[in-house]
Amino acid sequence: MRYVIGIGSNMGDSVSIVRRAIDEIKATFDVDVDERSSLYRTRPVGGPEQDDYINAVVVMHCDRDPDRVLAGLQEIEHEFGRVRDVRWGPRTLDLDIITVDDMISVDPDLTLPHPRAHERAFVLVPWHEIDPEATLPQHGPIEYLIDRLTHDAKDGSRIPSASSVVVVAAGDQAPGTSA
Ligand code: ATP
Ligand code: CA
Ligand code: CA
Repeated sequence: MRYVIGIGSNMGDSVSIVRRAIDEIKATFDVDVDERSSLYRTRPVGGPEQDDYINAVVVMHCDRDPDRVLAGLQEIEHEFGRVRDVRWGPRTLDLDIITVDDMISVDPDLTLPHPRAHERAFVLVPWHEIDPEATLPQHGPIEYLIDRLTHDAKDGSRIPSASSVVVVAAGDQAPGTSA
């Protein structure tokens, strides 16, 4: 199965945390990450006032079932000291499953595709960098979804503008070799 995973952090040394999280994903699932985006600095969306996030998206192939993968990702979050308290509040590490192949699930414990991915520039823009032809099941080509975000933002909606997503580490393609 092909997994698209969204990574976010806005507490601690987030650039380093996101890089190390990618290494942990590889180790935990014993896979190579097929594609990894640059790291992006993004404005928080919803929740309390908090620092900017560092976001990235990775793609991996893994035979494990989605619920086992989610459990593994939650263990990694825990290793990085994530405490679940305020909904959409600051966190050291957040790992979301964006898609698993074309699977659709309405289970609240594991909804596929991720129920808010289609409206999130901080997911769609990094994903588009590594997979420009991607489509989000039930929503369509991500290129179109990004365009729509930009247009909605012009109308003053609260949906984040794609242009608010900024590359902070373009071409940073060697997480395994970073300190
Ligand atoms: P959001 O879901 O809006 O990105 P969040 O990441 O802050 O918010 P969490 O507190 O990390 O939310 O997760 C809440 C619950 O969401 C988890 O306990 C998990 O079971 C569930 N969940 C449902 N679908 C998914 C998914 N596709 N990826 C990760 N978690 C999911
Ligand atoms: Ca999330
Ligand atoms: Ca999450």
